[in-house]
Amino acid sequence: MFIQIHLITWVIALALFLSVQSANAAQVSPNLPIPTSRPTEIYKPNTEVKTPAKSNRDTASSSPSTATNACLAELQKISNSKSIIQPTPKDTECTIPNPVSILSIKLQNGQIALPADMLNDCKFALEFSRWLADVANPLAEQHLGSSIKKLNSGTGFTCRRRNNLPTGKLSEHAFGNAIDIVGLTLSNGDRFLVNDPATMEPSYARFFSALRKTACGYFTTVLGPGSNAAHATHLHLDLGIHGRTGNYRICE
Ligand SMILES: [Zn+2]
Repeated sequence: MFIQIHLITWVIALALFLSVQSANAAQVSPNLPIPTSRPTEIYKPNTEVKTPAKSNRDTASSSPSTATNACLAELQKISNSKSIIQPTPKDTECTIPNPVSILSIKLQNGQIALPADMLNDCKFALEFSRWLADVANPLAEQHLGSSIKKLNSGTGFTCRRRNNLPTGKLSEHAFGNAIDIVGLTLSNGDRFLVNDPATMEPSYARFFSALRKTACGYFTTVLGPGSNAAHATHLHLDLGIHGRTGNYRICE
């Protein structure tokens, strides 16, 4: 009997001990770290991708210069033209700084076709395109009653000297800086050919006189019939630099 009571006492004591321990375990100690609630806004890395800036060297080696692009962009506003990769010249001084080919010049109503193998420096091509569209074509409409449909000319670039001999000063054609106009085909089918104005119909002679005068405002060299025998049947236009300042013009 005594053993039974003693055992019951121990069981009760053990139960009390365990219940106290359980209550202590359930009580959160203020010293323990409390887990924070999950943030509602999850951090997102910046998804904007920034590519490394190209060095000047990279730009220079992979694309044409800014000046080259600027000229071509201007040229393409008024003409159908493209940049040309000129073969590296060997044993020759003939080089074009910024070679381009004009296929046609845009007009308000139509276009002026140019020879397929035209090759010029972009600076010259731009000036020539402006003169042809803004001046030559309106003059043709005024004097000849028709717009210009096609330019009959040389190819612009020719690797040769002025005198066409082995020695002497290089022609502006050797730098893509010149053009020789032989004639013009008009939209009405008529043709204008560069020649002695004395042999032309009066309207054609007036047109040619105006053409030459206006060309002197755009180009530094204008040579044609009457200048010398070499230019009796074509109009030579170039942007060569004459004299120290480059302001001097040869308009003969
Ligand atoms: Zn010429």
